[in-house]
Amino acid sequence: EPLRSLLLSRIADVPDYPKPGVVFKDITPLLADAKAFGALTDALAELCQRYHADKVVGLEARGFILAAPVAVRAGLGFVPVRKAGKLPGATLAQSYDLEYGSAEIEIHADALRPGDRVLVIDDVLATGGTAEASLQLIRRTGAAVAGVAVLLELGFLPGRERLEKALAGAPLETL
Ligand code: 5GP
Repeated sequence: EPLRSLLLSRIADVPDYPKPGVVFKDITPLLADAKAFGALTDALAELCQRYHADKVVGLEARGFILAAPVAVRAGLGFVPVRKAGKLPGATLAQSYDLEYGSAEIEIHADALRPGDRVLVIDDVLATGGTAEASLQLIRRTGAAVAGVAVLLELGFLPGRERLEKALAGAPLETL
């Protein structure tokens, strides 16, 4: 399908980044292409409509770049999920396991309220750890998860399986 091949053609493989043996998916060529970035933004904004979202959550950092224009296009507010220590107000925090050690993400405690329906956006789903922790965080605010949308899913990793429980029936869409 044309959208899919347009997007794929603008994602570069960078071998041995950030460490030897890893092939990093670089989305900066897509961001630099107005047609591709616009088409991606339109497609994500359409998902907001389809799943009746009323807030868009972006995951730091590349998720911010994708989610902010989607929120504007869809006429919805944008809420950031940030790495620990970056948000100035009262926060809820969620930690999750990495290959070595752990990481922590935060959301402003009053950014979402019970009854809100949230579409969560990130660039890449890899192991699913980041998205899983984000869904747990969002549920703790009382908000509902309308869905998760990513540009790219690394199909050789079990991210989708890891996310299944946290999704609790909400859709995971990969463009
Ligand atoms: P996960 O928590 O699913 O293992 O990793 C997903 C997070 O790491 C996302 O926020 C994503 O931005 C980043 N990430 C992991 N691998 C890649 C990659 O190959 N390319 C890009 N652009 N981001 C990646």
